[in-house]
Amino acid sequence: MIPFLNLKKINAQYSDDLKEACSRVIDSGWYLMGQELKTFENDFANYCDTDFSVGVANGLDALTLTLRAWKELGKLNDGDEVIVQANTYIASVLAITENNLIPVLVEANELTFNLCPEVVRKAITRKTKVILPVHLYGQLSPMAELMVIADEYNLLVLEDCAQAHGAIIDGKKAGSWGHAGAFSFYPGKNLGALGDAGAVTTSNEVLAKTIRALGNYGSYKRYENTYQGVNSRLDEIQAAMLSVKLKHLSGQITARRKIANTYLDGISNPAIILPKVEKQEGHVWHLFVIKSFKRNELSRYLLDAGIETIIHYPIAPHNQDAYSGKISHAELPLTEKLHDTVLSLPIDPTMSIDDVNYIIETINGFE
Ligand SMILES: *Cc1c(COP(=O)(O)O)cnc(C)c1O
Repeated sequence: MIPFLNLKKINAQYSDDLKEACSRVIDSGWYLMGQELKTFENDFANYCDTDFSVGVANGLDALTLTLRAWKELGKLNDGDEVIVQANTYIASVLAITENNLIPVLVEANELTFNLCPEVVRKAITRKTKVILPVHLYGQLSPMAELMVIADEYNLLVLEDCAQAHGAIIDGKKAGSWGHAGAFSFYPGKNLGALGDAGAVTTSNEVLAKTIRALGNYGSYKRYENTYQGVNSRLDEIQAAMLSVKLKHLSGQITARRKIANTYLDGISNPAIILPKVEKQEGHVWHLFVIKSFKRNELSRYLLDAGIETIIHYPIAPHNQDAYSGKISHAELPLTEKLHDTVLSLPIDPTMSIDDVNYIIETINGFE
């Protein structure tokens, strides 16, 4: 069986360094908000070309606490609108509704899966305050165009970078385009911890400090609580694991690109629609997502041939029970078509080229 993602094999590549880092934290006697976190935050901010990065407990909190911080800073109010693509993972929408903001779900570009500037422009109302582009599957949204719109209408931009660590468009990195970028280090992400973790990148110091305070019981100063905050911190152990893995991120991205390019060159079955790459050099290929009108048959056929695939995502957020009757939205036929046709192929950086070629041959043999 070719697994969708072999996390054991991925982390085994760094096993000695991870164990050493783990021992260092155990022996230090300091487990939260210490040197490991500072080092990782500093390195990650440098990697993303931002002035700050603030570690939090997970990617959902990175999104939620950024919007919350803008509320505390008086930039957002209950009922303000946030434009986001309808085909995203539910976390992007949960962060909006959790803050009593209104998600305005729009159709994405069918070929890139990301926001279309023209569609965003049409969705703007007097209540619009934020654009939340989700860099789905590892490809950056058209940020230059989106930032022009944001400047024109004085909107905040929060990038959901959970799938796009290190992605570049027009020479600029994910998380450095908007006013803030929210990252997840869920174990299966391109930069994955050995548990939950997340971070916000920004070059706005006030925002960085407010997010830090909100994630630490609303406290800037010990035992003095400015906000009704939450507990959302990035542990020393996870920061140490991430520091080890950050050093290897660009190598992992190169391996993913090689697999993606082999798929793009090799898959020739006319029943398959390949993902469209707008800027080849910048895509980090968190997922390789093909489309097929016979998606369910194809996935069963591949499983019978020993190839595991996953659907990202089978149900759109607006069709989830959690939101049934709770968010208003226009008709979203394109989004629903995407959810019915997408299929993610294995793109594990440790996969052998023989496995990749076997997957290509098998797909080309599908009728
Ligand atoms: C994974 C993911 C998140 C949430 O990250 P967690 O660390 O699991 O909370 C948010 N948005 C997108 C697009 C994701 O893929």
